Amino acid sequence: MRPFIKQLLKRSGELRHTIQFLNPNARECPFCGKSLKNSQSLPPQSSEGQAQKAYLSYLPPTFPRSVCSSCFAAIPWLTPIQCGKCGRGIPCPDCIRWTDAKFMANRSAVQYSSEMREWLAQYKYRGNEKLEPLLAQMMFPAFAAITKEAASRTASNSPATTASIVTPASVWDAIAFVPVSAERAEERGFNQAERFAAILAKQNHIPIFDLLFRERHTEKQSFKSRSERMKDTRRLFQAKPDLLSLLQTPAQGRPIRLLLIDDIYTTGSTIQACSTALHQQSQAPLAIYALTWARS
Ligand SMILES: [Zn+2]
Ligand SMILES: [Zn+2]
Repeated sequence: MRPFIKQLLKRSGELRHTIQFLNPNARECPFCGKSLKNSQSLPPQSSEGQAQKAYLSYLPPTFPRSVCSSCFAAIPWLTPIQCGKCGRGIPCPDCIRWTDAKFMANRSAVQYSSEMREWLAQYKYRGNEKLEPLLAQMMFPAFAAITKEAASRTASNSPATTASIVTPASVWDAIAFVPVSAERAEERGFNQAERFAAILAKQNHIPIFDLLFRERHTEKQSFKSRSERMKDTRRLFQAKPDLLSLLQTPAQGRPIRLLLIDDIYTTGSTIQACSTALHQQSQAPLAIYALTWARS
């Protein structure tokens, strides 16, 4: 009997699954495993006020119902931002160094806190795929913010466009994503940036293009200094000219607006390297923006 119980405890995840199957009302928080009360339907009132409430209104209504209130409260939403370039919530010394940025701006959904690191690791390294739609949905408010940002930059250049209705599909000509190396793709079985990009593209009716590939495998970036990373990353990405040539040049004579998706923005060197490769290989002018899940 004992080993049997032990085995059951070990496989408690599966057991919970079975219970959920037998009683679909007994739901649990996909992040911490705590059971969700059926009464839980609204996000906790934020103390940050109206601005944050408006920002979070871009979350799907199902999102707050799918996560327990303590996990929801632990999400460090990146709003309001202080740095218009990288989307950081604090005054930013990093972006002063960008004298030759090849991308317009980055926005991230959340700050990369220890909880967010754990959530992403559960999905990325421990294969908890149930988290995928939720993590992607967490990007919706930041997606709305970067869409507004891109639309307003064009509007200030050509006042004629301000009157037209701004929809994500009218702002973005394409969504692309930062590629992982062939080795990483094989060991993990998926590219998280591509998955997030696909969900955003489908939700907003924007074409998704696999525009980049990674040249060679590098060591894990986390152990390196900022300048080491920058050097390493510079020649890491190549664009695919045949796919780039498929992008439709917009009628208004503006550059092709491209949204590049990644999971984490740390120094910006990855987004910079991808943008450099895209500009180099593209016949048409590009305006590249980035949307990342977390700002480290
Ligand atoms: Zn939870
Ligand atoms: Zn910055």
